[in-house]
Amino acid sequence: MKKFLACLLCLFFCFGVMGVGTSQAEEVVEVPIIMYHSILKSKKGMYSVHPSLLREDIHYLKSHGYQSVFIKDLVAYCEGKDDLPEKPVVLSFDDGHYNNYYYAYPILKEENFKANLNVVGCYCNFSTTSGDSDNPNYSYLTWSEIKELHDSNIFEIGNHTYKMHSFKPRYGIAQKAGESDEDYTEALKADVLKLEYKLMVDCGFRTEVFAYPFGRYSTLSEKVLRELGFKAFLTCNEGINKLEKGDTKALSHLKRVNRSGNLTTYQFFQKLKSF
Ligand SMILES: [Zn+2]
Repeated sequence: MKKFLACLLCLFFCFGVMGVGTSQAEEVVEVPIIMYHSILKSKKGMYSVHPSLLREDIHYLKSHGYQSVFIKDLVAYCEGKDDLPEKPVVLSFDDGHYNNYYYAYPILKEENFKANLNVVGCYCNFSTTSGDSDNPNYSYLTWSEIKELHDSNIFEIGNHTYKMHSFKPRYGIAQKAGESDEDYTEALKADVLKLEYKLMVDCGFRTEVFAYPFGRYSTLSEKVLRELGFKAFLTCNEGINKLEKGDTKALSHLKRVNRSGNLTTYQFFQKLKSF
């Protein structure tokens, strides 16, 4: 009798564990977010990737079964509203370089891949108003190019601040020493809304994606940005995201892995695997 009970317990335990394992496998999805900046033929570095490498990365991802998604798709999944493909990946471009339009856009179109693109308002405004807007080496996107990229449904646009993408007088959106919470809240809101306003008026949309300049953030900054309607926050913390359906927690600090132009496609994906 004792033996029989022990067997029953054992069976119960095994099936119990298997049951939990299966439901977790269904609900938790691993999502790498690859962070690019410039796409350039003339320069390679930590923040500058050759167009042929971008294409190779996409070929690698496709051949390994990955499908590109937007950050807003991650939001829908975490809110329990939609599913994700089995192997989702996000390509994320920061700062709003014109070379993203010049080099990355045609490649993504040809490869049928989509990407997230986080723009800095004052850079784009300078490009638009100065007319100095078509040099891949240093220009930034104009408002009409941003609208075109958004309307193409190949790029999803995120907010990377209007004018806080700088080390002075504050480090990104960081609170300054001695600055009151009230003054900080007001300054952050004014800056971020300035870009949202430009996106609405000049491009016809607003965004729920925010990319922290230089990866700086705080509990207060997230609270303020959530009040403004943002739902997903991109950091520079490196790692792979584990997203659970119906749980929005992970959206507060989405990890990204910087794609240095100094690595080959193989070397970069070996690095990605190590996380
Ligand atoms: Zn940036």
